[in-house]
Amino acid sequence: MIRFEGVAKTYAGQSRPALNAFDLAVAAGTTCVLIGPSGCGKSTALQMVNRLVAPSAGRVLVEGRDVTGLDPIALRRRIGYVLQGVGLFPHRTVAQNVATVPGLLGWPRARIRDRIDAMLHLVGLSPEEYRDRRPDALSGGQRQRVGVARALAADPPVLLMDEPFGAVDPVARTRLQDEVRGILARLGKTVLMVTHDLDEAVRMGDTVALMRDGRLVQVGPPATLLAAPADAFAADFIGGDRLLRRLSLLRARDHAEPEAAGDGPRLAPDASLKDALALLLASGRERVAIGDGSVTLSALRAVAASGPPASGPPA
Ligand code: ADP
Ligand code: MG
Repeated sequence: MIRFEGVAKTYAGQSRPALNAFDLAVAAGTTCVLIGPSGCGKSTALQMVNRLVAPSAGRVLVEGRDVTGLDPIALRRRIGYVLQGVGLFPHRTVAQNVATVPGLLGWPRARIRDRIDAMLHLVGLSPEEYRDRRPDALSGGQRQRVGVARALAADPPVLLMDEPFGAVDPVARTRLQDEVRGILARLGKTVLMVTHDLDEAVRMGDTVALMRDGRLVQVGPPATLLAAPADAFAADFIGGDRLLRRLSLLRARDHAEPEAAGDGPRLAPDASLKDALALLLASGRERVAIGDGSVTLSALRAVAASGPPASGPPA
């Protein structure tokens, strides 16, 4: 659905390429998160998809077609774009912001009105309360919700998001990440997203692509990156908390034993292994209940030991 083939980019006046020998495929209906240190080329790669940046070499394909051959305006109508903190028109209402692309496409007014309300519902904002507000009367998180609503308003198959939650406070951010991930999965969007926040990448990505100095270091499902970093750079970037991050991705019930735990604390049915660890430590027990069975400390040890060692012991 989105594919980079041998893509390179050297900006005018720069000696080092911002992107080099870059190959990546994002399957239809999935979310791929680009992650890596500042300046490693994440935004450059993203902006090639909607032709804000042209490759110096190689090809970028969207829905099987080289974007270089496509009309940029038509292309951008098929690609939603969400940026950190910016992009909302400050002097327009929430409704007018959300209506931007449907308006450009000449949709009838009644259809636009219905679409505005549907989009605001989708991102968890009551249309009655929010449609006539201006962006400065919204919190950071609400603004980003409107940004997502606007990007999805004309139902583009592809969505690009560059640090979309960077301006949102940490508590609201986690909820927003989970909600937006749910929305995108339900709508079957193909998403390429940029972040420098590993927790965000792990939470949002079906695949995570780790970059360094314009090159791809490793790409795969979050659990694979956490369990088996490809090299010392990847292990270092993923850091000492990788065991906890990995446990947070695994469902406790998938590692449960049939034996009942008796009375004592219980895990919620959808608890993660990280939740199980927290409850085991807090209760001082070797075994805590989940459903009709139980999760044990030794099951957790077995999972922890199953990831190959990287550089140094996991914290
Ligand atoms: P990231 O999004 O990972 O922080 P960028 O893709 O923005 O990285 O930048 C990659 C490299 O390209 C950096 O060294 C940056 O300074 C350089 N760069 C980005 N945009 C331009 C530009 N318009 N002109 C010249 N250099 C640029
Ligand atoms: Mg960037």
